[in-house]
This record gives sequence, C-alpha cells and structure tokens, in this order.
Amino acid sequence: MRLDKFLSNHGYGSRKEVKLLVKHGGVSVNDRTIKKADIKIDPVRDHIAVRGEKVDYEPFVYIMLHKPSGYISSTKDYKDQTVLQLIEGFDHYKLHPVGRLDKDTEGLLLLTNDGQFSHDVLSPKKHVDKMYYAHVEGVVTEETVKAFKAGVTLDDGYETMPATLEIIKSDTVSEITLVIQEGKFHQVKRMFQSVGMTVIYLKRIKMGSLPLDENLALGEYRKLSHHEINLVI
Ligand code: URA
Repeated sequence: MRLDKFLSNHGYGSRKEVKLLVKHGGVSVNDRTIKKADIKIDPVRDHIAVRGEKVDYEPFVYIMLHKPSGYISSTKDYKDQTVLQLIEGFDHYKLHPVGRLDKDTEGLLLLTNDGQFSHDVLSPKKHVDKMYYAHVEGVVTEETVKAFKAGVTLDDGYETMPATLEIIKSDTVSEITLVIQEGKFHQVKRMFQSVGMTVIYLKRIKMGSLPLDENLALGEYRKLSHHEINLVI
C-alpha cells in the first residue's frame, strides 16, 4: 500500500496534506525519515511513525455514510452507481455495506470490512433497532400506530415484529418516524403498503443507539469511533 494512502486512512489529512507532512520530515518508516509520500509500505510489517508516534495498523474500519438517493447499496453494479463509489481512500480495505438501503432511500448506511460485525448487526436474533423518518402520502392515524405495534402482514405473508410508529405531522402528506427490528426487503414501504399507504420519502436516522451525524452532508462519510461502534450493537 502507498504511504500517503495509509496515512490518509489513519486520519492524518488529505493526500495533499500527508504529502506535505512527509516532505517536512514528519514521517519515518522503520526508523528512517522518508521524504517521498508515494512509496510502497507493508501496513502490517513496517513500523510507521508520525512525529515519533507509532501509527498502528487497523485491520477493521467502520464508516458512517450519509447516503444520498440514486446510489445502490452494493459493491458493484453494471448499471447504477454504488455507495462504494462515494468512498475514497479505503480501496484496500474491501469495504461492504452493512445491509441495504433502497436506491431512493437516504440516510445512515454503515460500511465495514468486518464480516462478523455485519453479520451481528443484520442477525434477526440481535434485534438491532433501525429508525426511519418518512413522508407518507395520506393521513397517518393512531390506528396505524396500533397496527404496526401489533405487527402487520406484508405482501409475501411475512408478519412483522412489533414496530414503534410516531406521528410528527398527520396531513395529506404525513411525517412520521418508525422503529423496526428487522430489515426485510423494502420493509418500511411494504408496511405502509399493507395499510394502503405510500412512502414518498425515506431516510434512515438511527441504527441501534447510533444516530446519523447530521453534520455529514449527503454523500459525506467519516470513520466511527470505538464508542460509536459499540452504540450500534
Ligand atoms: N425500508 C424500505 O422500504 N426501504 C429501505 O431502504 C429501508 C427500509
């Protein structure tokens, strides 16, 4: 891996900033000060230090993306743009999205290279709550709140687990939040479909106890802290 990429991934700034840091003698590889940022290093075996402080290689990374509409949640696609195309500088980590958001859904999407973490987050046994904010065509009523709490039957016969629906605004277009425990295909849209209503805007705002960082603009992303990783599951 290139030294500038390694340092950029570990939070030492953009490639340009890292280049300057290296040029000014701030970086050593195996105790030798390096002046070229594009040299190849072995992130596991080489001893990389910035201003004398060792940079530890992180085998796993966890990224929060504020997903915009128009991108699909997969690693490759022949037709559409994927969420991976929004993430720069993490190629060697072979990231994957933790579950899926529909192409037209916005909001909190996690990406990682930690397969066990994804497995746990997505496992129905772990009951990781997912909170969504939505605009729904038509007047959402307390009857729907009760129906979602009891569980509804989706078009394929699946009975949903108890979900918490809160009405923010009940109007010709209603605003709601919904917390669900599972992550079935198009689940939120299909839950509203089951009561004859249509979701016209959908955004995921929380996973477990981890809220979407609203300082991230659509399409922006950042690494999670250890504390934040533990908030998910
Ligand atoms: N439910 C949906 O219908 N779509 C999503 O993208 C996520 C949950």
